[in-house]
Amino acid sequence: MSATAAENFADRPVALVTGAGSGIGRAVSLDLVRTHRIAVVDRDAAAAAAVVAAAGGVGHAEAYAVDVTEEESLQDAVRRVLQTFGRLDAVAACAGIASGGTVETTTLGDWHRTLAVNLTGVFLTARVTVPHLRATRGSFTAIASDAGTTGAMDMAAYTASKHAVLGLVRGMALDFGRDGVRSNVVCPGFVETPMARGIFADAPEGTEEFYRELIPLGRFAEAEDVAAVVRHLVESRYTNGHAYAIDGGSTAGYYRNPAAPFVAATGGSHGEH
Ligand code: NAP
Repeated sequence: MSATAAENFADRPVALVTGAGSGIGRAVSLDLVRTHRIAVVDRDAAAAAAVVAAAGGVGHAEAYAVDVTEEESLQDAVRRVLQTFGRLDAVAACAGIASGGTVETTTLGDWHRTLAVNLTGVFLTARVTVPHLRATRGSFTAIASDAGTTGAMDMAAYTASKHAVLGLVRGMALDFGRDGVRSNVVCPGFVETPMARGIFADAPEGTEEFYRELIPLGRFAEAEDVAAVVRHLVESRYTNGHAYAIDGGSTAGYYRNPAAPFVAATGGSHGEH
């Protein structure tokens, strides 16, 4: 970005987004860049650079190649963010990985890898950014999952990591609320991203349709739907310690698609009771 273009956006607040090279983090970055200067953080340098290119003209974004499990490289990136932008107002911790398996079939290696990215990554991101959020009375938003509030079959490590993120961020809401720092969690159901595409590509035929049938709104979320919730939480003045479900209603209660055959509703023998 040219010096003049950077100057044009110099009065905007600053947001740091992890996992910003793909899916939800990408959509969050491209949404927030309309009002914020953005630090686009991803372990994939080319993907982060592509998001910066896509944000060109709309606002000021810079790419940082960082693995969120490595505290020193995160710390170094935050130092550079402060040098470039001078402040930090909002953090969206979107970096995460999927992993399958029950407690019997999850290897210890997969367990450690999943918790390292999904939980320790959020912890470290918070640890290196909270001091700067305190200075601006800013906000921290983490992307957990509906698997952070309900059990999910065959996803032992993932479910444990996401439940833990809710606990971590709720604790932050208490620890830093007095400093004016708000901390919240977003809990999406399936979202149309490379992560979800990968899960369905590896799953038996019919899996995608099965999960879509469980959603009252009848579709998976778009990454932009989640980005709109993140924006809401960033802009909110009083929301703190909240876990925001964005899942089309799938965790609202037991649900069956009214279009699907169900004996009680169609006058079958059980319907007479
Ligand atoms: P995605 O498209 O795979 O994007 C995740 C991004 O995070 C990728 O660019 C990935 O890089 C990056 N990343 C992974 N590990 C990292 C690390 N150690 N350091 C830095 N960056 C790292 O996935 P998504 O669907 O957007 O998922 C974003 C978040 O939403 C995750 O926390 C996920 O658990 C959560 N979520 C997703 C869904 C869904 O259905 N998609 C539902 C509920 C919650 P690589 O490509 O190199 O791995």
